[in-house]
Formats: sequence, C-alpha cells, structure tokens
Amino acid sequence: MTVTGAFKILSFEMIDVADSPHKVVDCVSAQCLRCNHVTTITDGAIHHLAGGLVIRCANCGREQAVANGGLSHGG
Ligand SMILES: [Zn+2]
Repeated sequence: MTVTGAFKILSFEMIDVADSPHKVVDCVSAQCLRCNHVTTITDGAIHHLAGGLVIRCANCGREQAVANGGLSHGG
C-alpha cells in the first residue's frame, strides 16, 4: 500500500472524464497516520486539484494534497 506522508492509501478508483484527457479519482479510502481513522471520500466530496486531489481526515481534520500518480506506485 502507498503511504503519502500523512495518509496510507487503502484503495481508490479512477474514472475517465468525458471532457478531459485526464482520469480523476472517483473514490478513495485512506487511513490517517496521525489518528488511524479511515476516511472514505467519494466523488462530490472530493476536492479535486489539477492532476490530484486533497484528502482530508474526517476525524482529526488533517489534510494532504496528493497527486493522482501518487496514489499508486508506478501508477
Ligand atoms: Zn486523522
């Protein structure tokens, strides 16, 4: 599993976007390394950035911006 620094990525799904050449993250489950809470974020609640997203712990509020490519090794 991938550790981003603040979170451990447990699972994620990428989807194609009709008007974009880039895939976006549709949902992601990540475990906060500060409080160990597992947060699952689904589309609509995801704060998308260009080429990435912001993961926010639902328990302690810790946030980290993660590039899409940073979700998986070699992805
Ligand atoms: Zn947390």
